[in-house]
Amino acid sequence: MIEPAVLPWHTQQWQSLQGARDAGRLPHALLLAGRAGLGKGRFARRLAASLVCTGRTAEGDACGQCQSCHLAKSGSHPDLIRVEPEAEGKMIRIDAIRQLSGKSVLAAQEGGYRVIVIEPAEAMNRAAANALLKTLEEPASRTVLILVSSQADRLMATIRSRCQSVRFGVPPRAQVMQWISGMTQDADTEALYAISGGAPFTVLRAAEEQWLETDHALLDELAQLKQRRSNPLAVVEKWEQRPIRGVLDGLKRCLGDLVRVGQGLPRDELCHPGQHGDLQSLAQGIDLTRVFRYLDDIMNVERGLVSNLNEQMILEGLAAQWLEMTRPGGR
Ligand SMILES: [Zn+2]
Repeated sequence: MIEPAVLPWHTQQWQSLQGARDAGRLPHALLLAGRAGLGKGRFARRLAASLVCTGRTAEGDACGQCQSCHLAKSGSHPDLIRVEPEAEGKMIRIDAIRQLSGKSVLAAQEGGYRVIVIEPAEAMNRAAANALLKTLEEPASRTVLILVSSQADRLMATIRSRCQSVRFGVPPRAQVMQWISGMTQDADTEALYAISGGAPFTVLRAAEEQWLETDHALLDELAQLKQRRSNPLAVVEKWEQRPIRGVLDGLKRCLGDLVRVGQGLPRDELCHPGQHGDLQSLAQGIDLTRVFRYLDDIMNVERGLVSNLNEQMILEGLAAQWLEMTRPGGR
């Protein structure tokens, strides 16, 4: 387990849980919920390390020195159990959860808590979720289950209701900007903040994956197609050279901005405030209800991606749809 980082926007959640622990009121099950990019997984690792440590610091963090901490760091602590999909985007299956209930009936072996982290919790398939429910109904003593989810609304209501929810929100802008300035050399932090919606790790991801560059290219390509200045096949060829999820995410941001511009929202609510003028001309003459429908279609495509649809066909379909909705005089 990697040394957990202390993040400034986690202070309140951290102190509240440490207070509950000190008072002997730590819940058996926690649901760390909030949008992606807020460091919930790091919080879970920090908390898990703290719960198995036998000599906490004044802030409640793992000491890093005791036998438990050494075991935790080497990833071989018997009371620290992590459940995750075998690969990103895959489901957590019932076997992984069944093994867990077998383990959790034993008392914690190292004198601290037994901690089970399930991340991302929404990756549990239905059978796995039902199996987990049984574990939640018969909690073992000194066992803490930590569910981490960026899409908590996709969890079964019966699971949510048995967990104490720990909410994570987007931190104040000034706090994010200060933290970001220490994390990236990228000069365009204002634009990166806007494009990522303010979640700190999403800002870093946007810098790493060059969202600004690809979105600007995408806006340009959409304008060229609208004005019939580019061959759609040539544009699709360019899209094919990027990861398809990146193209879809970029389209969602750009079209989302078209909607916001069309609705007259202020610049600072855009993903691309610097492209406000371009977006205004792009939005001209386009029916907003069709943009909403286009966004729905993109989300449907995303859901279908796991079933191996032909990427080229998807991108050609999206380019054709854009051409159709920007047809001069067309509705
Ligand atoms: Zn320790």
